[in-house]
Amino acid sequence: MVTLWFTRRRRATSYAVTMTRVIVIGGGIIGCCIADALAPAGIDVEVLERDQLAAGSSGLAVGVVESQYTDSLWIDLRVFARRAFDQLATEAEIGFVRSGYARLGYSDDDIALFAASVEHQRSLGVEDARVLAVDELAALAPALRVDDVRGALWCPSDGYVDPHQATLAFGERAVAAGARLTTRCVVTAAERRDGVWQLATSDGPRSADVVVNAAGPWAAHVAALLGLSCDVSPQRRSATQVHLATPLDYVHPFTMNYIPGVNRLGAYVRYEAANRLICGLHSEELLDPDSDPDDYPRGVTQDWQEELAEQLALRFPGLADGMSFGEGWSGLYPCRPSLEPSIGWRRETEGVIDAVGFGGGGIQSGPAAGALVRDWLLHDEPRTIPSAARLAP
Ligand SMILES: Cc1cc2nc3c(=O)[nH]c(=O)nc-3n(C[C@H](O)[C@H](O)[C@H](O)COP(=O)(O)OP(=O)(O)OC[C@H]3O[C@@H](n4cnc5c(N)ncnc54)[C@H](O)[C@@H]3O)c2cc1C
Repeated sequence: MVTLWFTRRRRATSYAVTMTRVIVIGGGIIGCCIADALAPAGIDVEVLERDQLAAGSSGLAVGVVESQYTDSLWIDLRVFARRAFDQLATEAEIGFVRSGYARLGYSDDDIALFAASVEHQRSLGVEDARVLAVDELAALAPALRVDDVRGALWCPSDGYVDPHQATLAFGERAVAAGARLTTRCVVTAAERRDGVWQLATSDGPRSADVVVNAAGPWAAHVAALLGLSCDVSPQRRSATQVHLATPLDYVHPFTMNYIPGVNRLGAYVRYEAANRLICGLHSEELLDPDSDPDDYPRGVTQDWQEELAEQLALRFPGLADGMSFGEGWSGLYPCRPSLEPSIGWRRETEGVIDAVGFGGGGIQSGPAAGALVRDWLLHDEPRTIPSAARLAP
C-alpha cells in the first residue's frame, strides 16, 4: 500500500488517502512511461489500451529525442527525459541513433536565446550542447544554405529512437516492475461512485481510485467519459522518406527549421542512410481544424509534398537536387492552445490526472511525464521537475 495525495483545490486543502489502484487510459509512450514510473514506486497500476501499444501517435513519430529548446521548463523536461532514454538504451534495443540535433537561428536574438539555453543545459549537466558559428554549421551540414543563418543550437549526442520500440521497452520494464498492460481494451464509460472510479471496458469492468488520461489525440474523448472538458486538438502532421540522387559522405545532423510563433510549418531533416532521409513539416501551433483520431487521411497530399519540396530546395539545396519522395505517412500531434502539455490533478473532480497535450514532442517528453504523474500522486507537487508546476491543469 502506498499513500497517495488527492488535492481538493477548490477548497484549497489537501488530504492523504490510502489507496491501491491507478488506471491509465492509453498505451502510447505517455501511458507506458507513466506505468514505468509508478510500478517501481509500489503503486498498483494498469494501463488500458484499446488497440496495441504505440498504435496511436507514438508509433507514427519520427522519434527525435533532444533538449535544444529555449524555454527553461522545456529544457528541464527534455534533459530529464534524454537521460531516461540514455539509460533505457543501455538496457533494451530502442534504436537510439546519435545523429546530433541542430536548431537553426536567424537573428542575434535567437543566438542570445541559444546561449542562455546552453548555460541552462550545462547547469543540468548537459556538457556537449553549444552554439555553433555559421562556419561550423556549414562544415557539419554542407548541404545546408547558411548565408542568412546566424548559427545553431547544437548537441552532438542528441538523436532519434525507434518510437515503437521505445514505447514497448518502457512498457516491458513497467510490467517487470509489476504493472499490468492490457491491450485490446477500450474504455467506454466511467462513473465515480462512493469515491471510486467505475470504468466500463470491452474487457469487463474496472475500478480505480485514480484515472490518468493518457489518451493522446483521443484525450478530449476520454475526458468527456470522465465528465470533463479538454482542449487537446488533434493536428495532422506528416513525414516522408526522401531518396537522394547523390549519396551523402557524412551523417547529416537532424536539422530543425521550424520557427516558433510564425504560424507556419517548418521543414526538418533526419538522416537514415547515405541515400535516404526522413523529412517532414513541423509546427506545435494549431494550424488546422481538429482531425478525428478515428478517421483521418493516413497518407500525404500532393500539396504537402510540394510545400516540403519547396522548403527543402530553399534551405537544403545540397539535398534537394534530384531527390525523390518515398513512402509518406500522417499522424496526429495532440496539441493544446497553450502549446504545452497538461500534467497534474484535474481541479473539477476527484481522482483524475491529466497527462495530455504533448504535441510534436511526446516521445521526448514521455519519461518526464511519467515522473511528474508519480510526483503528483505521491507528493502532490512536481518534485522531480519543480518548474513543471506551470503545466498543472
Ligand atoms: C509525423 C509525426 C512525427 C512526430 N515526431 C516526433 C518526434 O520526433 N519526437 C517526439 O517527441 N514526438 C514526435 N511526435 C509526437 C508524438 O508522436 C506524440 O506527442 C506522442 O506520441 C503522444 O503520445 P501519447 O501517448 O500521448 O499518445 P498516443 O501514442 O496516441 O497514445 C494514446 C493511446 O490511447 C489509446 N486510447 C484512446 N482512447 C482510448 C480508450 N477509450 N480506451 C483505451 N485506450 C484508448 C489509443 O489507442 C492510443 O494508443 C510526432 C508525431 C507525428 C504524427
